[in-house]
Amino acid sequence: MTGQRAYLDWNATAPMRPEAHRAMIAALDLVGNPSSVHGEGRAARRAIETAREQVAALVGAPASAVIFTSSATEANTWVLGQGWDVVFAAEVEHDSIVVPARQLAGRHVAPAVTRDGIVDLGALSAALDLAAASMPTAGKALIALQAANNETGVVQPVAGVARLAAAAGHRLLVDAVQAAGRSPLDFAALGADYLTVSGHKIGGPKGVGALVVAPDAPLAAMLVGGGQERRLRAGTENVAAIAGFGAAATAALASRTADGEHMRALRDGLEAALMSRAPEAIIMGRDAPRLPNTTCIALPGRAAEVLVAAFDLAGIAVSAGAACSSGKVGPSRVLAAMGVDPALALAAIRISLGPTTTENDIAAVIAAWTRTTAARRRAA
Ligand code: PLP
Repeated sequence: MTGQRAYLDWNATAPMRPEAHRAMIAALDLVGNPSSVHGEGRAARRAIETAREQVAALVGAPASAVIFTSSATEANTWVLGQGWDVVFAAEVEHDSIVVPARQLAGRHVAPAVTRDGIVDLGALSAALDLAAASMPTAGKALIALQAANNETGVVQPVAGVARLAAAAGHRLLVDAVQAAGRSPLDFAALGADYLTVSGHKIGGPKGVGALVVAPDAPLAAMLVGGGQERRLRAGTENVAAIAGFGAAATAALASRTADGEHMRALRDGLEAALMSRAPEAIIMGRDAPRLPNTTCIALPGRAAEVLVAAFDLAGIAVSAGAACSSGKVGPSRVLAAMGVDPALALAAIRISLGPTTTENDIAAVIAAWTRTTAARRRAA
């Protein structure tokens, strides 16, 4: 419970971890510019380099591979804008992958996913073969793959896709925003060229992210000028945000296994309780490997917006599985790619838990859901 409310929208953003909060407050008092050579500058530089090691440890990469950005969106867009002839990115990917893939790549190919939203290795392999036939000689291709989905929590076969990417000679970008702190990550072992993470999803501040880059992966500078971040992203660093991100990474890594067990037990109990009260409800991606903290559930005939508003009034924060843009709520692109009926997709809500979610939070959801389903039965 966060205050009197049950905050269950951790996939949108996580509350700040106390460690991150403390690190930020301390870093706000660092007066130096990290590029200055005097003591004050060196102290600010140390805060950044400590955070770089902390974020690197979370993703299993050397510190030298980590470049700080303003968000994972920035990091994803940066990679997508590297002049690819073809980008392979399924429709279940986050907007920060799909939109730049459509706008910045020579061609965007969206490989099919299974009904659980998992990238189909056979379909991807066929799409790679087909694209190869029309690629320019020495053409550049990128495969973008999320480690786990933000709406359903479904986990992707990263190792299998990495093998296909290597065999085809294509680069691989892994969007690890939702997996970071929830699943083990080993950048070196993954065989990825790029990996992206976000501070605020792991209990760090909003507005900071990182791009992790393999030594031989091409990357043209995004901002030139002062030469910060290995001359790839100039601009005086956001020292406090970076320090908070680093502290959150260390805390997330230290408690990952215990947090995972805690969240899985609560999530599984929640799903069992929701289904027992409404056996007609549908859990998206239920039979697939999923993150331990996410449930995406639809009550047929009950619009998600209505349910989200009712939950909000009852002091519970969850979100609609629908994509909301320019004031128009449409069915989620992710659920559409999974072949979910549009009417059912409009009923899907996402309940996402975190390390400090309590039994009381879960009880509050079950009580609100029970009121909704009982009212429906009375009305029927
Ligand atoms: N990728 C995924 C899978 C996400 O869930 C999100 C945020 O929702 C992002 C990328 C973008 O992260 P940021 O908020 O740091 O831009």
